[in-house]
Amino acid sequence: MTASRRATHQSLPDFQASANVELNPLFSRPGESTEFPRFTIPGGESLPSTAYQIVHDDAMLDGNARLNLATFVGTWMEPEAAHLYAETVDKNMIDKDEYPKTAEIEHRCWRMLADLWNAPDPANAVGTSTIGSSEACMLAGLALKRRWQHARRAAGKPTERPNLIMSSAVQVCWEKFCNYFEVEARYVPISEEHRVLDGHALEEYVDENTIGVVSIMGVTYTGMYEPVQEISAVLDAIQASTGLDVPIHVDGASGAMVAPFLQPELVWDFRLPRVASINTSGHKYGLVYPGLGWVVWRDRDALPEDLVFHVSYLGGDMPTFALNFSRPGAQVLLQYYLFLRLGVEGYRAVHAACRDVAEYLAREIGAMEAFELWNDGSDIPVFAWRLKPGHTDKWNLHHLSDRLRMSGWLVPAYPMPDGLADLTVQRVVVRNGFTRDLASSFLEDLRGAVAFLDSADAPFPDPGHGEAFHH
Ligand SMILES: *Cc1c(COP(=O)(O)O)cnc(C)c1O
Repeated sequence: MTASRRATHQSLPDFQASANVELNPLFSRPGESTEFPRFTIPGGESLPSTAYQIVHDDAMLDGNARLNLATFVGTWMEPEAAHLYAETVDKNMIDKDEYPKTAEIEHRCWRMLADLWNAPDPANAVGTSTIGSSEACMLAGLALKRRWQHARRAAGKPTERPNLIMSSAVQVCWEKFCNYFEVEARYVPISEEHRVLDGHALEEYVDENTIGVVSIMGVTYTGMYEPVQEISAVLDAIQASTGLDVPIHVDGASGAMVAPFLQPELVWDFRLPRVASINTSGHKYGLVYPGLGWVVWRDRDALPEDLVFHVSYLGGDMPTFALNFSRPGAQVLLQYYLFLRLGVEGYRAVHAACRDVAEYLAREIGAMEAFELWNDGSDIPVFAWRLKPGHTDKWNLHHLSDRLRMSGWLVPAYPMPDGLADLTVQRVVVRNGFTRDLASSFLEDLRGAVAFLDSADAPFPDPGHGEAFHH
């Protein structure tokens, strides 16, 4: 790596400043260009090893995924999984005809999830893999909307103004769903007393145009579970008084692959008759590399048949419901690999190890003079904390986040959503592979960073990271 390449890379985000990537002399081979253009496809070819090295070096500068405590998405799989991945990267999930085994394995996986989530009759459930929870949520939202439209039309009522009720702390995919598919988003603001959507005041939001309520298992901002059972009970009461029968979709992007293993007694899934559908991200606590989500409907009535397309499958017929057409099949095979490899006991062991680390970190951070815990990591292995009021007027959590970055740690600080927008928190996501050892190193760096910030004589300048999280 030459000094000049490093310099061009670090002058980001001014990409235009240097439109050409200069090559290290090592790569200057006879007959080959010594510069690659950045924004036009090169005129001629280069050797595979040269192209590889260029891309490899650029990717290398992305940072160390293991020190990224911000993401929920899997960054480690064992060598057998990597081997399987390499063997199957060419499979296209939509080619059910060409890859009937992959199609069958996809079917087995969502059947296993229907069973894991206590569908009353898994054989009558419907499900599919997706590219992630975002696509899964779009599909689930569409099913809610279409079901509501059918019921309204059948009753001779208008269908122009559907609305969907959710916490102000939903993941951005729900804002997208409402925007893209023209559904009014009704946000219930969170507060100090109601830190998650819990059914409080829900009757003020529900009306005849409500297509459903989204309940989150593992709120992205904090990792807390919403009490789906309580929300369901409030909707039961609303139905008793108004006759409105409002279904629940559970956004279990992270928690639907945690709760069945760590909190099997918690009732949040298809055991509640009001839960129509559940999604999860295979690439979060499903432990697969990015590019995989799942959605399951409790039964065929929950997914209107007119949303389903039919593709040919070995001369037969294969129903599909998806926003994408072609997409990778390898992640589905990796999910199946993990179901076989870990089993229920293995998933429990992996997630319990993460939860132990999360609770240990939360305890230690909560005991520090500077901080106050927002939650303790006992739902999914994720927790958040805030600066204790009155601790300092010289620095804030954004300064701390910047300081931690100097030792390689990525720990985001962000304002909470509407209702608590004046409150800034910092969050840690503990994933498979974040060991107690790494956690101790992190705590050391955190304590060092706080001591440094506390020792300053004057306030630090505003780091200017005021933008809202995920918005
Ligand atoms: C991560 C997340 C999503 C989006 O999931 P992707 O798999 O990244 O598309 C949706 N909802 C919640 C609660 C999440 O945490």
